[in-house]
Amino acid sequence: MSILIYTESENNEFKKSALEALSYGKALGEKMGENVTCLSINSNNFNSLKQHGADRIIDIQNQSLEKFIVKNYAEVIHQIVISESIKTIILSSSANSKYLGAYLSGKLESAYMSNVIELPSEINPFLVKRTCYTNKAFSTTEIKSEIKIISVSSNSFGIIENVTDPDIKKIDVEIKSSDLKIKKIDKQTGAVTIADADIVVSGGRGLKGPENWHLIEKLANLLGAATACSKPVSDLGWRPHSEHVGQTGKPVASNLYIAIGISGAIQHLAGINSSKVKVVINNDPEAPFFKAADYGIVGDAFEVVPELIQKLEARNNNN
Ligand SMILES: Cc1cc2nc3c(=O)[nH]c(=O)nc-3n(C[C@H](O)[C@H](O)[C@H](O)COP(=O)(O)OP(=O)(O)OC[C@H]3O[C@@H](n4cnc5c(N)ncnc54)[C@H](O)[C@@H]3O)c2cc1C
Repeated sequence: MSILIYTESENNEFKKSALEALSYGKALGEKMGENVTCLSINSNNFNSLKQHGADRIIDIQNQSLEKFIVKNYAEVIHQIVISESIKTIILSSSANSKYLGAYLSGKLESAYMSNVIELPSEINPFLVKRTCYTNKAFSTTEIKSEIKIISVSSNSFGIIENVTDPDIKKIDVEIKSSDLKIKKIDKQTGAVTIADADIVVSGGRGLKGPENWHLIEKLANLLGAATACSKPVSDLGWRPHSEHVGQTGKPVASNLYIAIGISGAIQHLAGINSSKVKVVINNDPEAPFFKAADYGIVGDAFEVVPELIQKLEARNNNN
């Protein structure tokens, strides 16, 4: 018996969240006495899967899967689950995998647990710990269905090195033409994606206008960080919608989240609660973000950020 991990990739590289899902699946497999099979779609660089515990790789190359259409991806996973008698499916916590989990759950009539943060405390009954209420609480839930679908919350389990020499099996899949068509993809512009970033530098309306975004970009660049923004900033067209984080935007689970000129409304905080360390820079000491932050600087962003940039540049020049 095998646990199936859907390992998402982009530009022929497996995402950090996919490697975390694989690390989780490998540890779960050891607990359940099962091996792990990675499902790779339209990728052929398997090095990172070999570094992180893959026992088998199912390699699918198919042009119809070039763009993520949930129905097509669910169809592929459904075919594999049936042909390989899979009972446990592990997904990462990406936006695409969340759609996939819900869709598969209906298709396979199985329970789907998202935001799982630990290995099951028990296998029989199968008890998983997950976050709920936008990370404000935990729940321990029993999965009773025969097929179980789990998505692993980003940065909860970590990526564990485990070198393997997996069998690679090429599979052809048949995909019926979809009634869904993707017209446009609005891609994040920064070099580091929000989902994969260890550090995120985010700006709000306090930055006054898009002409000042060079400060956010410069700071992000020096820190190797992704850039993000609050909802009004993307609504105003200062930044692309792909950078909007929060309840109605992207979730952030970085190790460090730096919020500049962002008030800290609950809808914004809902999306960044999983970040480990939160830093706020705001000129209003009463801004709600200070209550949620680990560190805060009360000050004008237009003075504080250039100073931070200067300090980081000086540090880099000294190294
Ligand atoms: C249903 C719903 C869903 C929503 N979803 C989201 C969401 O997903 N994400 C999201 O972000 N918002 C969301 N919102 C909007 C949210 O309620 C807030 O309005 C929004 O987060 C505020 O954005 P902001 O902090 O950038 O702007 P503002 O509230 O205008 O705050 C700007 C901040 O910048 C500070 N500031 C001003 N000048 C400076 C300066 N020179 N230096 C330093 N600081 C300065 C101010 O003190 C202030 O705290 C949602 C709202 C609703 C109703």
